[in-house]
Amino acid sequence: MKHARRLLLASLLALSACEDSSPDPTPLPDAGAAADAGVPPGTPPGEPVPDAGTPTTNVPRFEHYIRRQPYPRMVLEVDGWGGYTPTASVADKLTKGLLGILDKESVEVRVDQAFPGKGKDHAWTNQELLALAEETGTLEVPVGTIKLHVLLVDGHSAMDTDQGRVLGLAFPWTHLVLFRQTMDTLCNKGSPLNPCAKAELGVWAHEVGHQLGLVSNGLAMSTPHKDETHGAHDASDTCIMYWAYEGSSGLADLIGLFGDAPNLGFDAACLADLDAVKNRP
Ligand SMILES: [Zn+2]
Repeated sequence: MKHARRLLLASLLALSACEDSSPDPTPLPDAGAAADAGVPPGTPPGEPVPDAGTPTTNVPRFEHYIRRQPYPRMVLEVDGWGGYTPTASVADKLTKGLLGILDKESVEVRVDQAFPGKGKDHAWTNQELLALAEETGTLEVPVGTIKLHVLLVDGHSAMDTDQGRVLGLAFPWTHLVLFRQTMDTLCNKGSPLNPCAKAELGVWAHEVGHQLGLVSNGLAMSTPHKDETHGAHDASDTCIMYWAYEGSSGLADLIGLFGDAPNLGFDAACLADLDAVKNRP
């Protein structure tokens, strides 16, 4: 079951058909997971950011997140269900971290809307989440600004199993989801070490990493570091892009390793991939 779940997670991120390399023919149990099927790299469905006359043809969106032009500024629009808003220290660390690894003039977290949510027992299907993301990711941003949309949700993922719970998802290329209620129930909220904030930052960084094209998720690798059995993930568990860090099985390690890690926990191999696009003339 766990393996099937990993494949399913990977399939959400599959732009280069990660599943093709897998011998496991397990059908996807969740219809929503196929939402991005058939979408070739560089031509994402739906573009909620008003087109500012930007020449996007044949340029993958992740390059626009990484490079300075034609979008010098980046906004992370956050819509919270269940009343969730980003933890202030987390938003601060994330934006500072992204400023360090992307070529942007500014990176800003903007809380747009807070919704009542679906309740603590709701099991979100991927189809529901994608529909919700497309419906709510409507914040308009100025010309020259690229937007990445973030949903914080109550309840939990319908993909959760007894073996593992999902903490985050990324839909190519515009929306990502953080299961805040799941995180908060698994970390020790009362601890002075603030493990829930570390979990939030780590999972958020991991999902942004997928939107940036990691690992081999559209973005070319400078050196081989993809975990071939886990889709768009890093072979090294010292990188935030390791597969286990978007689920409950890797949460304790994530909290222990990445709270104040430099570069948001992206290791040298991931940074080299980003730099190759960032520094390209
Ligand atoms: Zn992942």
